Amino acid sequence: MNEFQEKLVNFKWHEPKKSYDVIIIGGGGHGLATAYYLATRHNITNVAVLERKYIGGGNSGRNTTVIRSNYGIPEAVRFYQRSVDLYAKLEEETERWIMHKQKGILWMAHSETAVRAEKARAEINTAFGAKTEYVTPQQIKEICPELDISGGGVWPVMGGSYHPEGATARHDRVNWALAEGAMKRGVHIHQRTAVTGLIQSGDKVIGVETNKGPMHANIVMSAVGGHVTSLAAMAGLRLPIRTHPLQAFVTNHYERTFDPIVFSSSLLFYVSQTARGEMLMGAEIDRQPSYSYRSGYHFLQGCAFRAMTLLPFMRQLRVLRQWTGVCDMSPDYSPIMGFTGVDGFVITTGWGTWGFKAIPAGGEQMAQLIATGQIPELIAPFSLDRFAKDRTMADRGSAGTH
Ligand SMILES: Cc1cc2nc3c(=O)[nH]c(=O)nc-3n(C[C@H](O)[C@H](O)[C@H](O)COP(=O)(O)OP(=O)(O)OC[C@H]3O[C@@H](n4cnc5c(N)ncnc54)[C@H](O)[C@@H]3O)c2cc1C
Repeated sequence: MNEFQEKLVNFKWHEPKKSYDVIIIGGGGHGLATAYYLATRHNITNVAVLERKYIGGGNSGRNTTVIRSNYGIPEAVRFYQRSVDLYAKLEEETERWIMHKQKGILWMAHSETAVRAEKARAEINTAFGAKTEYVTPQQIKEICPELDISGGGVWPVMGGSYHPEGATARHDRVNWALAEGAMKRGVHIHQRTAVTGLIQSGDKVIGVETNKGPMHANIVMSAVGGHVTSLAAMAGLRLPIRTHPLQAFVTNHYERTFDPIVFSSSLLFYVSQTARGEMLMGAEIDRQPSYSYRSGYHFLQGCAFRAMTLLPFMRQLRVLRQWTGVCDMSPDYSPIMGFTGVDGFVITTGWGTWGFKAIPAGGEQMAQLIATGQIPELIAPFSLDRFAKDRTMADRGSAGTH
């Protein structure tokens, strides 16, 4: 937490109790949002969020903050649109400035196949409640005059889709707004509290072992981002998740305003401007699964080359910072939310490279599941058992990575 936020946010830290109704492992956006919605929507406040480092120290404080619902399958469009709508009201609801800004996303196509995919995206988005339209290269140039639509003669922009509701929000502020909202209603958040084991009675999970001692709960939720496979293994669960690093970087300040978020599905890179004026870029995951937080020159070089080819003004800029997070990648590039088959133990995972946008809806839906014991209709398609039932939610073309 930085100095500025510390002055703004009102926290009352608690001593850990021996038992809670609900224990949430992981103080990232999904864990915090679930606690927030349990407290605000269901009046369930005997809840602890256990974070082994500091809240927002995982991917929820390392991402490129893109919020959108222009997915490629109906179930995902509906789910992410719920999140887009909740984000739009989050400042008003939490009374915290999360720097939410609607910018619009341009999703460029550089081949006939990609053009067809963007036309299909526009249709499916419109049919299931998201606003997306197909745009020609000329319309793209009007939305983003800085783009070289000849693609430097290598990657011509042949068309694309435009999603006006695409937005960004300051990630730290989202985490801390949710944490504050939950805490002021009585939720306990314990930082530097690592879960080292799950306590089981027969087949049921009844609590957690931590570096601060055991804590019991009626229900335990895992929201540990890229570390989910080892956490789930504590309950004897083998998840279809692989952890891959994902890097990003920012340049120094660009003196002009750059409004849209520009994304290329074929080239797998995207760029937007931060509130400080920096140009922020991301691309695909590192191919090799690992838990490494190391950033590398290879990524920087490939991503910068693509950016400079399509946005030539970026040649004048300098790279300022580069960083990495570790992503919980599911095989179908869709999240996994809900029951696990282990009594007392639920998960929210598979957020890979796309889970920041899902924080409000993911939290809201998991809170409803925990409060009612029923799987909400909106997240039913994303259950873990879809892999056993061969009902995967394949949507790689919307994930922004390969
Ligand atoms: C570089 C990068 C760019 C991205 N860009 C975007 C984007 O533009 N838009 C988008 O929608 N998504 C994006 N994402 C993905 C998004 O950031 C994540 O999907 C999302 O933040 C996941 O949130 P989470 O709460 O599940 O996990 P995290 O935020 O990673 O939180 C998990 C927490 O669990 C804690 N933890 C782990 N193990 C334990 C334990 N044993 N005990 C206690 N605590 C534990 C960790 O310390 C961590 O704080 C990006 C990710 C990266 C890395």
